[in-house]
Amino acid sequence: MANITDKVTVIGLGPMGQAFTRLFIEKGIHTTVWNRTASRADQLVAAGAILAPTPADAVAASNLIVLSLTDYQAMYDILTPAISVLSGKVIVNLSSDTPESSRKAAEWAASHGAAFISGGVMVPPPMVGNPGAFTFFSGPKDVFDLYQPTLEILGVTDYRGSDPGLAQFYYQALLDIMFTSVAGVLHATAFLRSAGVSGATFEPYMKNFLTFLPEMLTDMMIMDETDSGKYYGELNNMIMMAAGMDHITHASKEAGIDTTLPAAVKAIYDETVARGYGRDGLGSIYEVLKNPSK
Ligand code: NDP
Repeated sequence: MANITDKVTVIGLGPMGQAFTRLFIEKGIHTTVWNRTASRADQLVAAGAILAPTPADAVAASNLIVLSLTDYQAMYDILTPAISVLSGKVIVNLSSDTPESSRKAAEWAASHGAAFISGGVMVPPPMVGNPGAFTFFSGPKDVFDLYQPTLEILGVTDYRGSDPGLAQFYYQALLDIMFTSVAGVLHATAFLRSAGVSGATFEPYMKNFLTFLPEMLTDMMIMDETDSGKYYGELNNMIMMAAGMDHITHASKEAGIDTTLPAAVKAIYDETVARGYGRDGLGSIYEVLKNPSK
């Protein structure tokens, strides 16, 4: 069984990379850091990290290189001048980007003799390393297994498969739910505010509904429907739902608030009806979402 590695390099010291570095130092790992803005390393150096003068020195210092950057372009910007020392290294990129970026990065790393694991951290920096923290990973299983005990310091590791794009697929899928749901919650809040209702008054209703939502989706067997392509519409069909979205869009206009969000959902519902799913259930919008009109 693999053990926690004795050395790690962290490149990228935003709030996330700083949290990683602190956790690695706390575990007694010799932790080398590099960041474009060197001053972001000051407190970490005081806590025991070693600041490398260049990305090449940072890479040379450890076999495991953990990246925490704004996007994958930043990885190329930083590591391209260090390609001569990449051979034999394991790059674990925990930065956000598209699945295709992860796949291309894995090929790029391989072309320089390095192994590549992609990851998506599913919690904010203060939660990293604490109960509830988890990270999706994908890439070569033998390489992941070798460093899993070290990566587990950051939280539960959820390995999704050898395709390096998979971690970003899962990560972006959950963020997709988060960002669209939060937009929905705040749109509803603005709608009620136009009637003088405060956010605090709305909060228990919002919470209650969001708690009930997973149960409702399970009862509707909406995931099974997406797999079978059959959408049960006897109790609530798409013609009724599209009319409902129309009401929300018009009510938002009357309220003087932004209508972009309900209008976008309404367009999807209308297209679903136009494609002949009017008597099918809400799950049938999946047919439009997975296969948009040209
Ligand atoms: P920040 O944007 O605060 O930090 C990003 C890091 O990337 C900094 O070290 C920055 O350097 C560096 N960077 C960006 N562009 C370049 C470049 N072209 N060349 C060199 N360095 C560059 O991000 P976070 O620490 O918040 O997040 C890091 C990653 O983790 C992101 O991909 C984010 O999506 C993901 N994540 C973040 C969460 C959060 O709540 N913060 C939650 C889950 C995931 P410099 O300091 O010089 O600007």
